[in-house]
Amino acid sequence: MKYTNLHNLPEPLVNAIAGEKKFEKNRYSVTDLLKSPQELQLLRRHNDEITIDVSDGLWAVLGSSVHYILQKHSKTGLAEQYLTTDFEGCKIVGVADLYDEGLVTDWKVTSVYSFLLSDKDNWAKQLNIYAWLYKRSGMGVKDLRIYAILRDWQLSKTFADKDYPRIPFIEKKIDLMPMDFMESYIRERIRLHLEAEKVTDEQLPECTPEEKWARETTWAIMKKGAKKAVRVFEKEEYAKRVMESLDEKHYIEKRAGKNVKCTSYCNAKLKCFQYAKEIYK
Ligand code: SF4
Repeated sequence: MKYTNLHNLPEPLVNAIAGEKKFEKNRYSVTDLLKSPQELQLLRRHNDEITIDVSDGLWAVLGSSVHYILQKHSKTGLAEQYLTTDFEGCKIVGVADLYDEGLVTDWKVTSVYSFLLSDKDNWAKQLNIYAWLYKRSGMGVKDLRIYAILRDWQLSKTFADKDYPRIPFIEKKIDLMPMDFMESYIRERIRLHLEAEKVTDEQLPECTPEEKWARETTWAIMKKGAKKAVRVFEKEEYAKRVMESLDEKHYIEKRAGKNVKCTSYCNAKLKCFQYAKEIYK
């Protein structure tokens, strides 16, 4: 991966962000396993050709700083423990944020919106793979939790929205999966990644809507002067039908769907045939 510094960010930030990611054959980190086979293959094959700007990694630095604080201030737990195991001819590695008497926690710094709408299923799998790694190294796991620090939390929103988090922190309990279930899941992930190694970039299995974090196009009924939609529909015809009973202060706003991962979070996108095909269709 090559880095540019288009916005002249200060050197300590650049050094913190522009780390080298090395890929090794048959070695998978927990996050590698969870990536789609297409994304992981493209990143592995084109690692030396992909260029990103350090400004894209600014939020990740905040996440890393929390890990640093955990290492410094956790009095009883084991922070940032490197875990590894051999499985199905591959090496699986991971660094869990914190282990404390059977409780495994993953710490995230994220926006309120991302937390509320994020794919919790992927977070659950990530934590359960850590639990599987701990158990394989002989350490018991009783409980899994996500601790999220909400970087854009606003006090004013707590008064208007009863579902809005009360403080800039959320704790979420994650169900612990049985060991044999996780073993089958990880075996299947490895199989998919090894299969993807055998084909060309153009033949890679396409990412699913879930893997692309696809958001469908919706139609919102808006009232002039208001920021929040009165109602949001998945079909235009439903919105039109409801509009028939409303006055001229209301109008329909089309909210175009998009693949959030592809457009904003996938470093492989410029090498991806599926992405090129979908944006030019
Ligand atoms: S750009 Fe989208 S479709 Fe292509 S690898 Fe990334 S997530 Fe998948």
